[in-house]
Parts: sequence; structure tokens; C-alpha cells
Amino acid sequence: GSHGDEYSSASSVKNPTIKFTKLFINGEFVDSVSGKTFETIDPRTGEVIARIAEGDKEDIDFAVKAARHAFDHGPWPRLSGSERGRIMMKFADLLEEHAEELAALDTIDAGKLFSVGKAVDIPHAISCLRYYAGAADKVHGKVLKMSRELHGYTLLEPIGVVGHIIPWNFPTVLLFVKVSPALAAGCTMVVKPAEQTPLSALYYAHLAKLAGIPDGVLNVVTGFGPTAGAAVSSHMDIDAVSFTGSPEVGRKVMQAAAESNLKVVSLELGGKSPLIIFDDADLDMAAELAILGILFNKGEACVASSRVYVQEGIYDELVKKLVEKAKAWVVGDPFDPKVQQGPQVDRKQFERILSYIEHGKREGATLLTGGKPMAQNGYYIEPTIFADVKEEMLIAKDEIFGPVMALAKLKTIEEAIKKANSTRYGLAAGIVTKDLNVANTVSRSVRAGTIWINCYFAFDIDCPFGGYKMSGFGRDYGLEALHKYLQVKSVVTPLYNTPW
Ligand code: NAD
Repeated sequence: GSHGDEYSSASSVKNPTIKFTKLFINGEFVDSVSGKTFETIDPRTGEVIARIAEGDKEDIDFAVKAARHAFDHGPWPRLSGSERGRIMMKFADLLEEHAEELAALDTIDAGKLFSVGKAVDIPHAISCLRYYAGAADKVHGKVLKMSRELHGYTLLEPIGVVGHIIPWNFPTVLLFVKVSPALAAGCTMVVKPAEQTPLSALYYAHLAKLAGIPDGVLNVVTGFGPTAGAAVSSHMDIDAVSFTGSPEVGRKVMQAAAESNLKVVSLELGGKSPLIIFDDADLDMAAELAILGILFNKGEACVASSRVYVQEGIYDELVKKLVEKAKAWVVGDPFDPKVQQGPQVDRKQFERILSYIEHGKREGATLLTGGKPMAQNGYYIEPTIFADVKEEMLIAKDEIFGPVMALAKLKTIEEAIKKANSTRYGLAAGIVTKDLNVANTVSRSVRAGTIWINCYFAFDIDCPFGGYKMSGFGRDYGLEALHKYLQVKSVVTPLYNTPW
């Protein structure tokens, strides 16, 4: 059928019933101890979707107690890996059954494209569960050579009770990127979703129970950062905390961990990722990557290619293409399949992005297109491109987390490397060239956790992902992430029945 048909047939999912609004602790949906609730807002209109239980320190305490009991005495860490894997596979199947409804929840809560949620985010979460389900029975230590007549081996044991603090830009993907390897490792956990996007996380708690994940293993406490979030990072009985969000809060999480029980910390803190386009690039491909790199998920992506460097030989022609594409980019209702960009997540982000745009203008960057909120209601912002952006400008330094591209011209490979590295961040970088030597040289010289050559956003569950420099430390994805939730125990015994 036409787009119109698809859109109208999707109208039943456009208003999903909100089934879960309470905290999920020890296998039950419960009110918060204080009885308080908070509003979750639809960024398309600024209207309230639902009131959600507002968890605080006491609720985190209850959730940690449940998780601690499930870890110390419950079946989950004691099950065989294959048994845990079987239950996780069932969890994945349940996500598949409810994919439309789940995608719709993230659309109304975060303004994410429904079509992308259904085709990318939910399937990605499912693959993530299945990947780590498959790994759960392949966790093993080593037999050590040892330098004396000792028999030594290592055991990989679950790290214990884990706290996951999740941001709002990928409420589904970032939850499963953390929860799946932790489940496979045999950990129990407390999840603190972002206050902007609590809806899908509570639904996942329900599905976890249906799948047979024992009570207390996966607890979800909705609430705000300085209260519920801080209670996770400072808790004396949480063994590790995995955080994705802003550097400011990452620093607080690390501080709280240091000042409480020295829990293990991993941080993923976003970036200011460069995309470098060389003279020999395929221009259409380069333009496509640069536009997607900044506009995908309305620029609310930790790896967004927010700095684009173009070599001088193709600069004018490429910039023309970028402006054309940005102008043709469709902004509007994220349920409409023709739409490419929905509203920013909330008023705070909306205003923050607009203030960066004003900064850019004042600092003397050239505004090529966009720069304003869209006329309609809701937190919509025009795709925006600034040219002549200098390294010292705020829009070249700060993570804007919106549809704002900072363009600059460059001459040489050396200059490209220097500019790419002139940031405190180091999450990702993109290179567009047909020259293997250039691709190899630049990928080894740029200090970032992921390098994409002639592609962008090329995520894969098997591919470790995380930051260099102030983009954080620790890796999500891949078997690296499984090891984040395991710890090494060394066991030693005399090899022969002789005094050692
Ligand atoms: P944030 O860092 O405040 O929020 C992320 C999560 O941390 C949320 O669950 C929040 O409740 C929690 N949190 C907040 N304060 C806390 C505290 N003191 N202790 C423990 N947890 C706490 O991010 P934000 O304010 O929503 O967004 C601000 C900026 O952060 C964005 O503009 C963007 O630049 C960046 N960001 C990055 C990512 C990423 O993927 N790396 C995701 C979201 C935001």
C-alpha cells in the first residue's frame, strides 16, 4: 500500500495503553515508599502520558535487598549457563511478540521514529539477549601454568548485584546492552531508567517475569537522577555500576562509588565524534553518511558525527549536497513513516540545543541551513548546519545532542588527525576515503573507541563499544561486556602430595 495506508493502519498502535506505571521490585509492581509519582511527557505535544511511581533511596534499598537475596540465595547465579540462556531466549521471544507495542512506547516517551524502533531498536535488543544467552554457557577460566609445583586455575564468577543507570536516547537498546550480559553472567540487578523514558523499561520487567527470570533478579526503579540514581551509585551493597549519560553525572557516579564501597564502575559518556571526508571519497556516500551521522535519532546519539571535516578539493560540492539533504529532511510526527526526524526528548534538551545554536551564531560560525524550532507544537528543531566552525568555538567542543552539524575545511591528512583528536572526547570517528593507506593511518592515529571506515553507526552486538579519554571506560557489546559483569577468582592447590 501507499505511505498513507501504512500510516492509518498503524493508528491503533499510536495510542498504546500504559499498563505498567509502578516500580518493579522482587517480582512485583509496587508503589514507591513515599507514594510520590512523576509525569512522563510526550515530546510531540508536551502533554502528560502517564504518572509513574517515583522511586527514591528507600525504594532502591528494597530493590537492592531483593537483588542481594536473589544473588546470595536464589537460583539465578547457581543455574547452569545453558539454563540461564534458555530463559533469556524466552525473554527475547517475548520482546519479539510485543515488538510493535514496545516500539510505540519509546515513540511516545522519547519521540523516536516508530518505524526505526520496530525495525532496528527492538530487533537489536532481541539480538542482544540472544547473543549473551548463547554466551552464558561458554564462560570459563584458565588452567595456569604456574612457576612451581602448584595447580592453579581461574574461575569466572558473576560480580554480584549490579546497578544499571540508563539514559533516555535509546531506552530499549541501552537497557538490553547492559541487562543482557549481566543476566548471562549470573548477576542480579537494579535498573534505573531515565526519568524521561520509564515506560518501556517497566514493560520489560513484566516480560522478564513472564519469561521465568526469578523474582529479585531484575528490579526496575523509576525516578530521578539525584535521588534514585544517586542511591544506586552510593549504595554499599551494589557491587558494580554501569552508567551511560553525561560526563557531569559520570563524574558523580564515580565519586559516589569511591566514597561508598569502591564498587566497580563503567562509564559511557558520549562524545563529539569527527567524520573526516577526504578528496577521493564517493560524494553521494559521504553526504549520506554525514547527514545520517548527525540527524539519526534527531542527533540524540552518543556517537553522532557532530564534527564534519571535509578536504578542500571537494568541499564546495559536498557542502551543497549536505545543505540540499538537510533541507529535504522530513521532520514531524515520529509515527508517520515518511518522517525522518521526531521531536527532541524534552523541553530541557530542546532549549539546550537552541541555546547552542545561538552560541554558534554569536561565535561567528556560518549558519548554512536550519537553526530554528519548527513551527508546529512539540520539541521539533530544524536540521541545522554550521560551516567555518573553529576548534575553539563551543559548538565544536561540547556535545550538543541535537541535529546540529559543525563543518570545517581541511587540507592534509596530518591536519585531519590533529583536528579529529582536538577534543576531550573519544567515542567514535568516521573516515570516508577509497585510499587504504589513508584509512589505515587515520584509524590508528585517532584516539577513539570505534572507527568507522566508509560507514557510520555500523553497530554490531559482537563488536565492543566504548570510550577513550573523557568518553568513559569499560566496553559494552561483545564478550568484553560479559567480562564487565564477571570477576576472576584464582584457585591454587599443591600439584603433588609433597610439601610445597
Ligand atoms: P544525565 O547524565 O543527567 O542522565 C543519564 C541518567 O543518569 C539518567 O537515568 C539520570 O536519571 C541519571 N542521573 C542523573 N543524575 C544522577 C546522579 N547524580 N547520580 C546517578 N544518576 C544520575 O543526562 P541528561 O541530563 O539527561 O542529558 C544531558 C546530556 O548528557 C545530553 O545533552 C547529552 O550530551 C548527554 N547524554 C549522553 C548520553 C549517551 O548516550 N552517552 C545519553 C544521554 C545524555
